[in-house]
Amino acid sequence: MADRESTAVGYRLRMQPPDLSTYPDAVKLQWFEWVTELGLEQKLRELRKGWDKNGKTHRLKPRTIKYRKSEVGPVHKRAPRGVPALDVSRVMALLTGRAHLSSAEFWWGFDSVTGRSFAAILHYWADDQGHDVFGLSPQGTGWVTAEAMKKWAAWKAAGGYTRPAVSPVGKSFSKIAVLKPVTEIKGRLDIRNMVVSGGESQIEKAIEAGRFPGFRRLNMRGEQWKPQNNMPGIRPMRRAPESPVTPASVKMTPTARVQELSDYTTKTFGIPSHVLDTAGFTSRFQGAAIDKARAAYDPKTRAIYWNLNSPAWENPAKHFETQRKEKLLVDPRPIGVAHHEVGHALLHAELIRRHGLEEGTKRYWDLARDEFKTEILLRLQFKKKTSRVAVLDKNEFVAEIYSGLVIGRTYPAEVLALYDELGGVRPWSP
Ligand SMILES: [Zn+2]
Repeated sequence: MADRESTAVGYRLRMQPPDLSTYPDAVKLQWFEWVTELGLEQKLRELRKGWDKNGKTHRLKPRTIKYRKSEVGPVHKRAPRGVPALDVSRVMALLTGRAHLSSAEFWWGFDSVTGRSFAAILHYWADDQGHDVFGLSPQGTGWVTAEAMKKWAAWKAAGGYTRPAVSPVGKSFSKIAVLKPVTEIKGRLDIRNMVVSGGESQIEKAIEAGRFPGFRRLNMRGEQWKPQNNMPGIRPMRRAPESPVTPASVKMTPTARVQELSDYTTKTFGIPSHVLDTAGFTSRFQGAAIDKARAAYDPKTRAIYWNLNSPAWENPAKHFETQRKEKLLVDPRPIGVAHHEVGHALLHAELIRRHGLEEGTKRYWDLARDEFKTEILLRLQFKKKTSRVAVLDKNEFVAEIYSGLVIGRTYPAEVLALYDELGGVRPWSP
């Protein structure tokens, strides 16, 4: 079926990811809500420019400009065709959208001036003046598809399929020990807080003996550390400028890499963390395409699970470079994933502290359902200052801001105000 389709009172958009059909209805609806929202945003842009459904403009004759009128607001003589009163013009103000399971539907509402659907006037434009607005332009359709696919990728990367829509809450939750507060490790090198390959005492001895090769770690792209010199025997110890950074061996298998991240999560933040293969991971989180997820926090056990067979771990440099380019994550590195999941865990712990286990857990899921729907401007503003994943919903927002704060990022007061209000914790406050 074509992506674009005209109807009597409006038009529909039908593009969707190839795997959407394998998801439950709630997820299909979510996709077409994105298409609806983006489709409205784009169509308003096109109407503002005076475009028709093919992205073409039709010049207004001087006489038309002279006698232009609007029933709804002050007329701007030079405004594009169809929108004499600019944003309050009916073609824009009456445009409405709704998500269905297999399409996003757009139509023009009832017009109080003519007493009919405003589409009647738009049909007149199309038939009489050759200016047909019943559809989104091909380039606009391309933009909506690309933006929606980015949200789709972000949602998948954030383990969106673990949400209540797919994996309902209401089951019993096992109690575990209250999470330990985060220890401050900024600005000092505490090997008890670092994950190292080899026992602590061995390493301490090696340092004393001058044989310790230094803390190797992930570079900015999340790949293995490349030593910059070839001093035999010993290399200078390098310190992270701002963050607790997990050291990584130079040659790491995906298994070693993921195990190290998992150990780092437990040892540094005191949150239970486990590595699972895809079979274990998918049975724990249950949901289509969960096999691609990198890691996820499970409120039922209050532990973080790592998906050993996520494609991300096969080539982290490539994977996280894409994440960085797409501005998906505040910290697009493997360690950023650890901090992000820790952010979820600490949010849950804080909500439990404030409201008790049951109510705290309920609020945790409520935040995952709160997609900034009624705060579109706030969402756009915060997206620029944070990441795409951060504005998927308020639970992701807290996890992302935490992953930024823990490496010393600063945020505007309004971002932090929301973060605190929602239950976000400051990494180094007592
Ligand atoms: Zn998340």
